[in-house]
Amino acid sequence: MNQNKLFQRTRIRLAFWYAIVMGLILTACGFGFYTAVSHAHSEALDRELEFAAKSLHNNLELKLNQPEKLSPIVKEVLPNICVVETGCISEKSVSQRHILNAINQGYYVRLFGNSGNLIATSGSLPQTQSLDLNKKLWQTIEDDTGNFYHQMSLELHTKDNRDWGYLQVGRNIADVNSYMDAVKLSLLVGLPIAMMMVAFASWWLAGLAMRPIYQSYRQIQQFTADAAHELRTPLAATQATIESVLLMPDLDIKEAWDILATIKRQNQRLTSLVVDLLMLSRFDRESIDLQRELCSLNDIIDDLIEEFAAMAISAKVTLKSEISVHKDVNIIGNSEQLYRLFSNLIVNAIQYTLPSGEVTVILDSYESDAEIRVKDTGIGIPTQELSHVFDRFYRVNSDRSRHTGGSGLGLAIAKAIVVSHHGSLELQSEVNKGSTFIVTFPLLQPSRTILIKKGL
Ligand code: ADP
Repeated sequence: MNQNKLFQRTRIRLAFWYAIVMGLILTACGFGFYTAVSHAHSEALDRELEFAAKSLHNNLELKLNQPEKLSPIVKEVLPNICVVETGCISEKSVSQRHILNAINQGYYVRLFGNSGNLIATSGSLPQTQSLDLNKKLWQTIEDDTGNFYHQMSLELHTKDNRDWGYLQVGRNIADVNSYMDAVKLSLLVGLPIAMMMVAFASWWLAGLAMRPIYQSYRQIQQFTADAAHELRTPLAATQATIESVLLMPDLDIKEAWDILATIKRQNQRLTSLVVDLLMLSRFDRESIDLQRELCSLNDIIDDLIEEFAAMAISAKVTLKSEISVHKDVNIIGNSEQLYRLFSNLIVNAIQYTLPSGEVTVILDSYESDAEIRVKDTGIGIPTQELSHVFDRFYRVNSDRSRHTGGSGLGLAIAKAIVVSHHGSLELQSEVNKGSTFIVTFPLLQPSRTILIKKGL
């Protein structure tokens, strides 16, 4: 396939588009994955922070009496609190009640008055000069050392519901950021590697997808060459006959009749070849609109035995039928084609059987199948040729078959007819012992047979 420029170019183009489409899908998936992970982490962070901030807020509000004033009991809730006016209080014993102790380290708390003045702080605060209050519920801030923090701001009230000020709870998000950076890095490194793998896979898949197309392309090429070769022989013979006639100074009536008979023979051969080719091409298009009717296999076999009796006699071959079933074996099909199928098999059997040999057509009927065997005691077919005899223009022995007038299309047509009737065609053969062609057709159910006979 790679030697053929058209197929090579198509394969490259197909692989390229595969890779582009797969690459875009992979990139979109990677981006989607990153967004989903980042969103899940930021949601988890928000929930964690919200839980801490609201718990602290509810606890503090129960202990605040005066606006902007911290009651001593507050230090039970906030460990190591640093009050702007008085300095830091160092708690020795850490009580279970300290809400922030229950959460990871890295949290900080800031308490602001109503006018935004900083009152107290606790925990690992951002290293920033600006102590202004930002009242937005959620914020992400960067401190002077480049660390990022996420924080939540809530209003605080005293026990008797007067405005106390504001509570800000936040935490360092370096761990979340570094995790997301690791995810981003692995995607950035993984994506080009995946793209390279996709490119290789695309090349391989494109080859795989094109293999059957290439095979049928080769078959068509072979078929065209074989058909041209077969057509050339009778055409060349006709041409030679006509040229020889033109060279004759005068022609008597007897010679003219002989020449015309030769041309007629060659013309007949051409016509039958063209008819066979047309038939095969119609089968190939699968658009063949067969007229189907109820066909009796018993009748077809009887007719053909009668038709080919003379041929068998002149070939000194015994032709007979064995119909063991005593009822009509019917199938739905095209009788013209069924005649063609069995005559191809019977003619072959007679032609490839030596004088004093025997050709038997056997009809059997099973539960759901009808079986027709065309059996001869002829020259047989070598085992290595068995799988090829149904190929178009294939002849086991070219010279021998040409002598019989065969073009190598007979069995290909027989096979196409069997397939179009949903049947199967098998071949058993042994050199110098004979061949048996076994045709099987699905049998028409008796109830359907009655309906069809009644024309329903
Ligand atoms: P042809 O028209 O040349 O007979 P077919 O397609 O009918 O072409 O058959 C293909 C080949 O199979 C023939 O060339 C012949 O060699 C072989 N063949 C077919 N039927 C028989 C048979 N009954 N016995 C032996 N050889 C056979």
